[in-house]
Amino acid sequence: MQKSISLSLLLLFSIVYLQAQKPKTPSSLHIYESIQKLNFLGSVLYIAAHPDDENTRLISYMANQEKARTAYLSLTRGDGGQNLIGPEIRELLGVIRTQELLAARRIDGGEQLFTRANDFGYSKHPDETLEIWDKNQVLSDVVLAIRKFKPDVIINRFDHRTPGSTHGHHTSSAMLSFEAFDLSGDRNAYPNLAEEFGVWQPKRLFFNTGWWFYGSQENFEKADKTNLVSLDIGTYYPLKGLSNNEIASLASSQHLCQGFGRLAQRGSQEEYIEFLKGEPLTENKDVFAGIDTSWNRVKGGKAVGDILYNVEKNFNFKNPSQHLPQLLEAYKLILSINDEHWKTQKIKELKSIIEMCAGLYLEASAETNWGTPNEIINLSIEVLKRSDVAASLLSLKNSNSKVIEKNLILQNNVKYDFKETLEVDDDAKPTTPYWLTNKGSLGMYQVDNKSLIGLPETPRTYQVDFNLLINNVPITVTKEIVQRYSKPDKGELYRPFEIITEASAKITEKVIIFNTDNQRDISVVVKAGRDNLEGHVKIAHPKDWKVFPEKQKVEIKNKGEEQTLVFTVVPPKSQSEGFITPMVDIGGKIYNKELIEIAYEHIPFQTVSLPSESKLVRLDIKKKGENIAYIQGAGDVVPESLQQIGYNVRILSLEEINTETLSRFDAVVVGIRAYNTLDELKFKQQQLFDFVASGGNMIVQYNTSYRLTVENLAPYNLKLSRDRVTDEKAEVRFLNPEHELLNTPNKITHKDFEGWTQERGLYFPEDWSDEFTPILSMNDKGETPKDGSILVAKYGKGYYIYTALSFFREFPEGISGAYRLFANMLSIGKENLKLEDKLND
Ligand SMILES: [Zn+2]
Repeated sequence: MQKSISLSLLLLFSIVYLQAQKPKTPSSLHIYESIQKLNFLGSVLYIAAHPDDENTRLISYMANQEKARTAYLSLTRGDGGQNLIGPEIRELLGVIRTQELLAARRIDGGEQLFTRANDFGYSKHPDETLEIWDKNQVLSDVVLAIRKFKPDVIINRFDHRTPGSTHGHHTSSAMLSFEAFDLSGDRNAYPNLAEEFGVWQPKRLFFNTGWWFYGSQENFEKADKTNLVSLDIGTYYPLKGLSNNEIASLASSQHLCQGFGRLAQRGSQEEYIEFLKGEPLTENKDVFAGIDTSWNRVKGGKAVGDILYNVEKNFNFKNPSQHLPQLLEAYKLILSINDEHWKTQKIKELKSIIEMCAGLYLEASAETNWGTPNEIINLSIEVLKRSDVAASLLSLKNSNSKVIEKNLILQNNVKYDFKETLEVDDDAKPTTPYWLTNKGSLGMYQVDNKSLIGLPETPRTYQVDFNLLINNVPITVTKEIVQRYSKPDKGELYRPFEIITEASAKITEKVIIFNTDNQRDISVVVKAGRDNLEGHVKIAHPKDWKVFPEKQKVEIKNKGEEQTLVFTVVPPKSQSEGFITPMVDIGGKIYNKELIEIAYEHIPFQTVSLPSESKLVRLDIKKKGENIAYIQGAGDVVPESLQQIGYNVRILSLEEINTETLSRFDAVVVGIRAYNTLDELKFKQQQLFDFVASGGNMIVQYNTSYRLTVENLAPYNLKLSRDRVTDEKAEVRFLNPEHELLNTPNKITHKDFEGWTQERGLYFPEDWSDEFTPILSMNDKGETPKDGSILVAKYGKGYYIYTALSFFREFPEGISGAYRLFANMLSIGKENLKLEDKLND
């Protein structure tokens, strides 16, 4: 009895990583490769900073060629990146990128680990990075990953010796790995972790180098390669019909939100890793030299090896179930091994192989993908065994209920269906990414439950145990509950089964700008997690703001349905900011979270529960001009933001850009990276300049200096650089305090640069002709002043303005100063004060 309990705990641990995607039905080939991996007792940990930093060629090589257990430790989840496939940014982007990493690992055969470090945006130097991250905490998490995963070999993606040459997160990841390599084996370092997971000394540390780290291929050819190991990562796997680099391309193409979809590569390709420290390389330069990667490595492993090597050698591709007696024998032997690490890992692998060899298909599908506390969910359970092995289903067990006895002998290829129920616990916690449950700092997620640190995702609450007897050996297979359903245009689909609250609410706009003291209506959308939801909604708001009515009734008949309630918000007379939160009261229980759904085809469906709040901003802002044309580049919410402060904004397609259409607007604003992403925009440049010449204003937001599609970004000479000011608090100096841009219609002061987020700006121009007037100067610590953040030039009757300031980041955060400054840029040279602005004067 004792044994079966510890066994099912073990299982729970091993299964939680699985995703509720369509289950893979394994072929003999997959089983064979799993046995090869089972028989290799060595491991590799690859370390870098972000999703997409990882070299999938090397991860795939270690996992598929060497057969090593391989993991990628990404220090962050990539919240600071940009999303090319949808509206999610920041923490929600981190959720997508986490899932993209998991999708990549399902292809290249690796596992995925994280730390609590938050990707706070671009950082120039590891000194800055390690100040914003809590260095001690991140280092502790790297040590934790090493002590838990117990890698023989660690490979860093980046060079720890070259701070300042790449993103500060990159160098930091290498520096922390370099430090953790020694600390992990030291019992005095992080003693609590040592107590819980033991200490572990990896054998060797490498740096995944390449010619680009040497400046050129020529330099690299000349370089001393004594400490370099070269690996042919183009090796071909006939069993898969794919070469290693093809697998790697498929894996990295999962990073779709970063635009990593790419062509497959084939053919021999050298990859280099540089030995940094640990046990010196031997003459044959085998990364695992001196490490026994056979079953002899484990005490009591020899007997296991004798059985399993034989299975591998004589593997029967036509009927893998023939090996079950030996596999079950080995299974029993491994259970009696004393080494917990190897026992846990190898039992997990072997159990999956036994399941595959027996041709088992086990599934627990809920009628819905959501449950709420106290709800009873109907489950369809499918049990199928497709082989001649003697097997019976003893019982089923839900995570929270008692054992349901079955005692059923399973016939070959006969499907058994059961209808069971799952009662969701009263105190079941909603499914949400664990690292987002608490408010973290700029650089760190705050995770209270220490056992979750490092896990790629939150373990799901509900599973079903299938207690089986295979050839008289008791084996428990645990499956997460899923929802299996179909759509006529998509076929069969799977979703994870998740727990949500009975009510959630959101305000449709995240930032609500009031450019006058006129009241405005806001929509609150309440969503029911169960049938017959009844209660009322109030709005929590700052004291100097008013919201009415004070409360409204909510009544929703069906689970999943929404009801929209309209409240009226009255701003104060003068500039003010604050947050509002809808409070849904259901029988005395208050719900103030928003349920966010993330649905993309390349990753499993995600639900995220976040505090529901919207920012209110009463702006003291004046503006001239009314009609704005917007040309979307890589995508930003600047048009919506300008609408919020009262402009009429129309998004123009490339075809619509002509003199006739443009003449209807006071200004044209070009979205971020438009000259990097729109090839045809270059054909419209002259018409845009003509528009300026005839009195229009043109504002161009940041573009990157490489892959510009135009030669003449501006009507005068203007050259971009890679300069950026990443410190969002960097001092802003006024180069031309009397300039119209800083004075009309809004008087800009240093207060307008307070509260900025993530950075000041990026890809500042470094060289411009005399027609341009620079307005502001700023720089990061220890750097020379950068004067190109706003450059304005009169051209004909209008103005051309280039701005590298990150308005696209500041607007969604409701930063008043950013709005006031942008209004001045749009207003320059314009006379027609709007009536309401005159009234405000
Ligand atoms: Zn990176």
